[in-house]
Amino acid sequence: MKLVVVGGGSAGRTASIEASELGADVTLIETDKIGGKCLNQGCMVVCALNDVVKTVQANHKFEKLGIIDSNPKINFRKVSEGIINTTTKIRGVLTHETKKAGVNIVMGTAKIQEGYVTVNETDYPYDKLIIATGSNPFIPDTKGKEYAKTYKEMLNYTEVPEELIIVGSGTIATEIAGIFSGLGSKVHILCRGIFLKEVDEDIKKYIADILLNDVEIHEHVDVEEIHEDGVTTSEGKLNGEVFLAVGMIPNSQAVNELVDTGKRGEIIVNKRMETSHENIYAAGDVVGGIGTTPVARMEGVVAARNSCGIASEVDYSYIPLSITLHHDVSYVDTGKEGVEGHIPGSGGPNAYWDVLDSETGMTKMSVDLETGEIASIKSISPSSRTVLAYMSKFMKDGYTVHDFENFVEAHPSTDAVYKLIRFFASHEKEGK
Ligand SMILES: Cc1cc2nc3c(=O)[nH]c(=O)nc-3n(C[C@H](O)[C@H](O)[C@H](O)COP(=O)(O)OP(=O)(O)OC[C@H]3O[C@@H](n4cnc5c(N)ncnc54)[C@H](O)[C@@H]3O)c2cc1C
Repeated sequence: MKLVVVGGGSAGRTASIEASELGADVTLIETDKIGGKCLNQGCMVVCALNDVVKTVQANHKFEKLGIIDSNPKINFRKVSEGIINTTTKIRGVLTHETKKAGVNIVMGTAKIQEGYVTVNETDYPYDKLIIATGSNPFIPDTKGKEYAKTYKEMLNYTEVPEELIIVGSGTIATEIAGIFSGLGSKVHILCRGIFLKEVDEDIKKYIADILLNDVEIHEHVDVEEIHEDGVTTSEGKLNGEVFLAVGMIPNSQAVNELVDTGKRGEIIVNKRMETSHENIYAAGDVVGGIGTTPVARMEGVVAARNSCGIASEVDYSYIPLSITLHHDVSYVDTGKEGVEGHIPGSGGPNAYWDVLDSETGMTKMSVDLETGEIASIKSISPSSRTVLAYMSKFMKDGYTVHDFENFVEAHPSTDAVYKLIRFFASHEKEGK
């Protein structure tokens, strides 16, 4: 079976490897860089910048305590250069891994037709096609929009901007604010509505008051015009470099004549990642939805399996989400009701020196006291991203708070989750 996959990001690369391992003859087409947004512009770049920020913040803290005498200066050009070099190295590994799995990689822009894809004037016929073309930043039609940067140009700064105005209210706006404020910029976030409207109120308050305490968050503000040196808003003028983080738009133009798309251009798929065309599947950001790398990978695997004749469905329950800041902010929320409890984070690796400032994070959980079922966990700590990925698996597999009675942690850790679970377990026992 000839399978063509368009897009070498998280969804497309994973789909290609899976299908090749299942015996398909796979050609993967990528117009820009293998690894897509996650490696080259998004998750990993944010992670790289955040590592620099953490070092700077640790320096400030230790200097304040008189432990070290240092005043770090950021060379942003070197930061960008280091990230580009590291990314290039990782990209080499991913490319090798993909080829090793038997995938034929073709670099170029895919023009998609019925039954074949054309790249650089060569045709690649397909029996099945997987579209994994991702998404791009949404650019509103605001006057002066050409002056604004998006995450795609994040490494183009030659130095840390003195003042930065971030337009947007979601995860990316929050992460960029944490990075540049941590590097020394005076940061404003302009939200058309409410800041982080999907996030739990207590968690959001911790983010705004502690993790972004130097950032000015303005809600219910309209940006009327963007200038080279700032913005005019419904509340007046603000000076600074402008950064747009107002959402993503699915990259479906290459295929929208062959498959049905929704209002925002997202390719419409069912749980098997099948589109309206019987031989075409789609996966990742191009189908809209949650928009994270693990979800894109899961969808890629499901698309690959179904294209190879193996029935498979995506499962969007218990997806852990996170925001990269000084401490990771992570959460799994089933939307079910439960009794809530919360405790401060523990002092431990990467949080010991936050104890004196009461900045060790917090963990919040809600549990059904009748059954012991965990309805949600939200945690801010250096380890929350790892802990919550495993907790999501336990929750999905139906573990209740009692299943953790014999849990033995590795010490020291900043994970407050199991402490809260124990509290709930003993509380439920007493109640019975
Ligand atoms: C700043 C930022 C931070 C993020 N941080 C996180 C995070 O911490 N954790 C997380 O899980 N997710 C994060 N995400 C989201 C994550 O990056 C995406 O959900 C994920 O990369 C989507 O993968 P994808 O394969 O669907 O799309 P993409 O990675 O966008 O890949 C699509 C690929 O298709 C190629 N392409 C497009 N059109 C064509 C064509 N016609 N021919 C050939 N190739 C084509 C593109 O060049 C691209 O390489 C972040 C996103 C951003 C922007």
